[in-house]
Order: sequence, then C-alpha cells, then structure tokens
Amino acid sequence: MEKACRDCRRIIESEKSVCKCGSNSISKDWSGYVVIIDAKGSEIAKKLEIKEEGRYALKVR
Ligand SMILES: [Zn+2]
Repeated sequence: MEKACRDCRRIIESEKSVCKCGSNSISKDWSGYVVIIDAKGSEIAKKLEIKEEGRYALKVR
C-alpha cells in the first residue's frame, strides 16, 4: 500500500520511509489522488501549493 508525506503530500512507494522532500513524517491514512503534470501551469497545483510534478494525496491525516 502506498503512503503519503504529511509535509508535501507526495505519494510514496510503500517500501520507502523518507520522502523526496526529506521528511519522514509519512502516513498510510490519506485520501484523494491527484497527478500534477505541469506544476507551473496547473490551477490545482497552485491551490495545493505544489511546485513539482508528481503524484499527490489531497488529504493526509
Ligand atoms: Zn514530502
């Protein structure tokens, strides 16, 4: 099962315990799913304050 970072909401593969952003605050309890392809041109990315392309959770508990 995939996990999500509490700091940047990035989706992380289950075998990893540290996010790309350097955080180890990772949760299995997340919901919603968004793929950001163009972080600079995406309204969703702006709303979520995402600056990098990737897969993100909408809510991380
Ligand atoms: Zn992160």
